[in-house]
Amino acid sequence: MTIQLQNVSKRYYARYGSTSVLDGFDLEVGSREFVAVMGPSGSGKTTLLNLIGGLDRPDTGSVCVAGTRLDELDDNGLTRWRARTVGFVFQSHYLMPMLSAVDNVCLPLLLTKLSRKERRLRAEHALDLVNLMDRAHDKPSQLSGGQQQRVGVARAIVAGAPVLLCDEPTSGLDRAAADSILELLRKISQDGRTIVMVTHDPHAAAYADRRLELGVTA
Ligand code: ADP
Ligand code: MG
Repeated sequence: MTIQLQNVSKRYYARYGSTSVLDGFDLEVGSREFVAVMGPSGSGKTTLLNLIGGLDRPDTGSVCVAGTRLDELDDNGLTRWRARTVGFVFQSHYLMPMLSAVDNVCLPLLLTKLSRKERRLRAEHALDLVNLMDRAHDKPSQLSGGQQQRVGVARAIVAGAPVLLCDEPTSGLDRAAADSILELLRKISQDGRTIVMVTHDPHAAAYADRRLELGVTA
């Protein structure tokens, strides 16, 4: 089991009261599984991804990802763990506008001990996986929205992370571009990665092996 959440609760406190987002939530996701998470706005989808990716900690319960209990890591340990274990793909791709596609994909590798040449080779390999080798030297502004998001996917997988977390990765795209991202995600999961994707779109969710729905709690 690559991802295991047991009895996870998260409550946010604000001046006017508190919101319980996840309340005794359990989840198991196997390796190579591609899971879609749906649910209305405010139901805790982004919170769930943040807990799996170690960007946030639950109030109760345990989160275990790729064999590591996240509650046993301190903040530094969590940062190092995240760099080698999870890749994030967001609704907005957050590419650096001044850098070419291949240099954007290289960015996560700057934190590693790899040589410049090795970083370049790995970035080219990741771009090849998303079918964009011919656009390696283009800047983001020279690419379509779908191509930009494919660069974002290449950047998320370039360091070899076994877990990919995607938050509305296709929401700004037209159907054809969205389908190409979704096909790509499915291929990436079949090649051995675990994917959790948040989406509003039932058509996008249909690409996953399994769908789960978050409800709004009190
Ligand atoms: P979703 O992604 O499903 O829209 P979120 O996980 O972003 O839901 O948020 C769930 C609920 O928790 C929302 O009501 C939101 O306002 C609240 N929330 C999220 N993050 C915070 C935070 N850092 N502080 C206070 N409330 C938050
Ligand atoms: Mg969200």
